Amino acid sequence: MKPRLPLILALLLAGSLACSLLSTRPASPTATAQAATSTPRPRPAVTVQAVTATQAAATQAGGTAAATGASTAAATLATAGPATAAPGGTAQPLAYTLDTAANAQAAMLPAFAGDVTTLPDASRYVIDVTITFDSAAGTATLAGRELIRYTNTYSVPLDNLMLMLWPNYSDEYLGQLTLGAVTVAGAPVQPVMESRGLAARLPLAAPLAPGQRVDLSAEFTTRADPGVEQGARFGLTHGVLLAPTFYPIIPRRVNGDWQSEWPPSSNGDVSNSDTAFYAWRITAPARFDNGQSVAIAASGVVVDHSQTGDTQTQTLLTGPMRDIALAVGDLRSAQHTLPNGVRVNAWALPEHAAQAQTLADEGAAQVDNLDNLVGAYPFAELDIVDTPGAYGGVEYPGLVYIGVVDANNHFEEATVHEVGHQWFYSVIGDDQLLEPWLDEAAASYTEVLYAEKIHGAAAAQHYLAYFKNEVSSASDPNQPIGLPVDSYAALDDYAAIVYARGAVFFDTLRQQLGDKMFFQFLHDYYQHYKYGFATSAGFEQVAESTCACDLKPMFQKWVFGNQ
Ligand SMILES: [Zn+2]
Repeated sequence: MKPRLPLILALLLAGSLACSLLSTRPASPTATAQAATSTPRPRPAVTVQAVTATQAAATQAGGTAAATGASTAAATLATAGPATAAPGGTAQPLAYTLDTAANAQAAMLPAFAGDVTTLPDASRYVIDVTITFDSAAGTATLAGRELIRYTNTYSVPLDNLMLMLWPNYSDEYLGQLTLGAVTVAGAPVQPVMESRGLAARLPLAAPLAPGQRVDLSAEFTTRADPGVEQGARFGLTHGVLLAPTFYPIIPRRVNGDWQSEWPPSSNGDVSNSDTAFYAWRITAPARFDNGQSVAIAASGVVVDHSQTGDTQTQTLLTGPMRDIALAVGDLRSAQHTLPNGVRVNAWALPEHAAQAQTLADEGAAQVDNLDNLVGAYPFAELDIVDTPGAYGGVEYPGLVYIGVVDANNHFEEATVHEVGHQWFYSVIGDDQLLEPWLDEAAASYTEVLYAEKIHGAAAAQHYLAYFKNEVSSASDPNQPIGLPVDSYAALDDYAAIVYARGAVFFDTLRQQLGDKMFFQFLHDYYQHYKYGFATSAGFEQVAESTCACDLKPMFQKWVFGNQ
């Protein structure tokens, strides 16, 4: 994620930094006006809380009522078809089952196709979702059914499972997920709603032993509301549906229980989950009521698509990804395929059609850069989607949303930051709530690495100076970077310390190790945690292993603090 810049920093960026970075481009006469529009919407806390409480109450009631009325669900999508019949057509069985969902070689670059066989305990999701738009209300609905194969990778038996219903996190999602029938091992279960409707705990008839697996199914109906333009990660913006984590997803366990609490603030990213395989099908209108065509951008690779009348269907496979995202709407596309075969697709609103190729080119340049400096992007595709209001940008595996696309290329920084998250968060996982620096400081430093490669050493130094200046704006510029999201007093402090001071820490580590050893460390770190989940202590351990040196004083000072 990238917060939209506070006004003073946006002005700095548009004035000195961006002009320096983009020295080959003419200075934009509208830079100041553009920067001014980057001011984040003031968040009236009282109003937000009131809305939150109301929506949560409705969600709780809706979720419980729907679950109470649940009938025994058919447990296979292969024979049952979608939860909601596609308009104008008879749904065909989905071509993938839980047994075949990990046959995802097509989603990988050929050199990494073998990766899919190295994760036998990764969860598998088979999802069939039908999307409809209500043009009068400006809303969309995602009606779906999913199958999940879950293996207990912990060392203790599990008495229950948990499903996270992220669209009910009304601080950042504009919408609501209503859970329908749920089965575990073929038997219907009664979910227990928790965390104001954000989580559904599923009792198990018998404990799930370590290493044991279980299949479950869930039906869901997710409504998406307009208003993302004002700042959100889920909903509609300019008529485009952006829907990450729109389906029930199993969270991680932390300290002996599922990580399922209502996230404590609206400062950062909110969801954590382990790498999984997704075989999924999207059914959507082929065009809107007004005749505009409807494009679908989604995590993974399209392995089958068809159109019957005004209904289109795409079937996708993903490589190992910890969650998935989609965007559906009137979007114009451009592509940039790298020599190694990675295809970067950019999707832009019609009014930004002229920027689509720039989005694709900048994204591809960052993929190429981080391929060399960190490790290979193993997936065949990456989608970059223009979604005004999705903060500065928001990252998901295989698909990133950019919230600040404009006609003056003020989106380069956000684009390369979100693409950087494909390495730090997607392939190398980390706890976005408890140790967010692992992906945010890293993604911020990839902005510097991109500037250095594309715009030269002076531009990179200018970038670092900008970050150092931002650190000085924090209430305490010496706060450690490695604290949980809710340890920082405000969004400004979170950005100044975790993003800016975090990026400066990466550069300090680079100075300490020297370039050769620093980039060797990034490669070692990538290999060690590829498709896994890193920790701050693990990061330090790999660094110390690479350099065969003691970095404890440095990590105490910068990351952990002295407490
Ligand atoms: Zn970020």
